[in-house]
Amino acid sequence: MSRRNPRRAYDEQGREIPPPTIGWLRSEEGDHTAFVHCNATDCGHEATISTDRFPPGLPFPDIALHLRCSACGSREVGVMRDVVGIYTRLGRRTGWGMGAAGALLTDYRVVGCDVP
Ligand SMILES: [Zn+2]
Repeated sequence: MSRRNPRRAYDEQGREIPPPTIGWLRSEEGDHTAFVHCNATDCGHEATISTDRFPPGLPFPDIALHLRCSACGSREVGVMRDVVGIYTRLGRRTGWGMGAAGALLTDYRVVGCDVP
């Protein structure tokens, strides 16, 4: 059995499914943010960060390789699409949701540095 990259998805035949890159998400989805969370035991720190400083060709899940938790220093960091940002843009475009500014959570903020 071949070794699998934990940051990649695989299909039923075990073939790697290519992840979207930062550049693709910017141009196709308008994504400039990512939701990151610390996987260290007893930490659970999480934040929304800007992806603007990462090169366009970087696979989205590999952002995690460049991050370290600002709360505990762990490199066990997970990355997900910024769902709050996605729904906020959707709401602005379609009028769906809670109005122009209402869709954002009160604690939503984008941290512009390396660490979650
Ligand atoms: Zn942490």
